[in-house]
Amino acid sequence: MRFFIVYDSTHKKFKPTRELDGTEWRANYDIPERLESIKETLKSEYSNAFVGPMEFPESYINMTHDVAYVEWLKERSENLEDGEEYFPKVFGWYDHCFDNGTPLLKNIFRYAWNAAQCALTGAQLLIDGADAVYVLTRPPGHHASATLCGGYCYFNNAALATEYLVFSDNAYVAILDLDFHHGNGSQAIFYERSDVLFLSIHGDPRYFFPYTGYAYEVGFGEGKGFNHNVPLPSGADGRLYLKELEMLCNTLMRFDPDYVVVSLGLDTHAEDPLGGFELTDRDYYGIGRVLSGLGLPTLIVQEGGYNPEANARAIKEFFKGFLK
Ligand SMILES: [Zn+2]
Repeated sequence: MRFFIVYDSTHKKFKPTRELDGTEWRANYDIPERLESIKETLKSEYSNAFVGPMEFPESYINMTHDVAYVEWLKERSENLEDGEEYFPKVFGWYDHCFDNGTPLLKNIFRYAWNAAQCALTGAQLLIDGADAVYVLTRPPGHHASATLCGGYCYFNNAALATEYLVFSDNAYVAILDLDFHHGNGSQAIFYERSDVLFLSIHGDPRYFFPYTGYAYEVGFGEGKGFNHNVPLPSGADGRLYLKELEMLCNTLMRFDPDYVVVSLGLDTHAEDPLGGFELTDRDYYGIGRVLSGLGLPTLIVQEGGYNPEANARAIKEFFKGFLK
């Protein structure tokens, strides 16, 4: 199997420190260690698979994001002081953000664009004939919409890679979002499209961020029937999760896509501080088996997962299953 891991150490310089949880400050969970632990684990087993990102024209961001949003992020990014953390105003039209957990730091534009270029690199490798590519990058992307950042996300890495596959290769793409949190940004971007199928398993939107992802959100207009949400209750275990994943994969196969883009969150793990499911290390082996059973060129984009040790164990099992 032609398998690559796209990784770039630039992400280590992106170090947000805090976020607002209601009215209280708390530590920001999007720390470099959550990726570095994964990198260390994979380096020992798949060191030959590692590649760095290619460069793409900055205008490619506009495949997914509005010009005004991109300009706003760039301007903010350049005008902040070193170490300053700016929290966008959620209400009104002054800023472009939907929550209080997504601070802007100096050079955030560069970090977000770097993550997006890692995802675009993965897409290009698939077009060039790779069977599978894992994009190990942060900040994550699946909460970012065309016009808003939020949920630690600035540019939607998975959506950009998907658009790139659609436009470069005239492809039909299925996005399978397996982060604990609903991929509201990805859903919104493709909600009226029939060439991109969006499928997601996530925590019950009545109780969990970003409070979207109900089963009745099925797409609109031409996109009606091309959006599938599977919310699961708090405490869902691997047995239930894998059953639902297999059913969702049947829906995916009926769509007959050319590529699969997986938004892989490891915050479904029982030991994750933010997620509410009870998956164990071994369940990720099962997830890897199910995904490899699709037999399609697959781009796996890292999203959430906030316990560095659990992330490392989960990803090891995942690839044991996926690459078996
Ligand atoms: Zn998440």
